Amino acid sequence: MKLFAKQFYKSKAWRNCRDAYFISQHGLCERCHSPGKVVHHTVYLSPDNIHDPTISLNHDLLELLCATCHQHEHFKKEEVIREGLSFDENGDLIQL
Ligand SMILES: [Zn+2]
Ligand SMILES: [Zn+2]
Repeated sequence: MKLFAKQFYKSKAWRNCRDAYFISQHGLCERCHSPGKVVHHTVYLSPDNIHDPTISLNHDLLELLCATCHQHEHFKKEEVIREGLSFDENGDLIQL
């Protein structure tokens, strides 16, 4: 996990926000309607915006995705992703 995001993802504010958003989408991926797994920030979080709740805790800027759609989302934007890597529920790269 990126260091600047660590505290944020552990925070009660984020957990509450994420859970409420998950329920509001009926737990389904917004792109393919598989069971959703990851609440993705459509505005990618950075050290500059992560403490701004109008960005990091704004339902309008969240998207509930399944693991596959989430991976595709990041595949588009991340420059290099090696085979055997995936994302965890926070959008961070993990080794499979
Ligand atoms: Zn999906
Ligand atoms: Zn993401």
